[in-house]
Amino acid sequence: MADFTGQKVLISGATRGIGKAIAQAFLEQGAFVIGLYASNSKAAESFKEECGSDAERLHLYQCDVSDYPAVEKLFSSIEDEFDTIDILISNAGIRRDGVLAMMPSEDWNRVIDINLTGSYNMAKFAVQLMVKQKFGRIIFITSPMAHLGFAGQANYAASKAGQIGMMRSLSKETAKRKITVNCVSPGFIATELIDDLSRDQLNEYKKMVPMRRFGTPREVADAVLFLSGPKADYITGAVLEINGGL
Ligand code: NAP
Repeated sequence: MADFTGQKVLISGATRGIGKAIAQAFLEQGAFVIGLYASNSKAAESFKEECGSDAERLHLYQCDVSDYPAVEKLFSSIEDEFDTIDILISNAGIRRDGVLAMMPSEDWNRVIDINLTGSYNMAKFAVQLMVKQKFGRIIFITSPMAHLGFAGQANYAASKAGQIGMMRSLSKETAKRKITVNCVSPGFIATELIDDLSRDQLNEYKKMVPMRRFGTPREVADAVLFLSGPKADYITGAVLEINGGL
């Protein structure tokens, strides 16, 4: 595993699930982590407590990634306080499932606003900092639903496919400046995001996975750290699937 001592990593959705595992993995490797969450302050506080002495290098902020002025303000504070960031992990995401014909427009808009527009908001200001230092790593957490599709997830699948299109374009804009841009695409991962599914549904989904098990947040984090490290210098515009063969 690469050593990230001294590197500054910004992670959205850093206090629960996959984002939390990514934050923990970076902290273990010496990085300085700036983590965002939406509203669950209790989860944020308990994560900080769990980090023990690593908590000195963990700074948590409440910031809705879909709120452009709030993200702009956040980046201005980051620049004042920490000067720059080296790595952005755009991980915050939600689901609001329902068949398209019955889907309220609020559910369509909220999922696109957080998963896709939130990724744009974060990447826009991160690139501005990274260009100045001629180095950066940007990783969007997408989903296999982007290319597979799934009944009841038109909004989610569209947001995740959108992230991939954005990533491919951005990777071409920033390659000359040594800023790599990639996606990590986890399959079914046991987190609170899929807590609402019934035991029968979960068993049904498990059968769809050739490895017959869900992945762990840590397995996703390991892939993220690989793409963020020096061994991935020549990888940009790629989607790394972590899905047990889905
Ligand atoms: P999760 O357990 O529900 O955690 C979501 C995290 O994102 C929380 O920290 C939450 O903050 C934060 N968040 C939500 N909306 C936000 C907003 N508007 N602004 C800032 N932060 C926000 O989800 P997860 O399973 O770890 O999923 C993480 C990412 O992986 C998502 O993009 C998801 O689509 C993707 N993914 C997950 C799976 C899976 O099976 N779990 C599979 C493929 C892809 P609060 O705690 O304050 O709510």
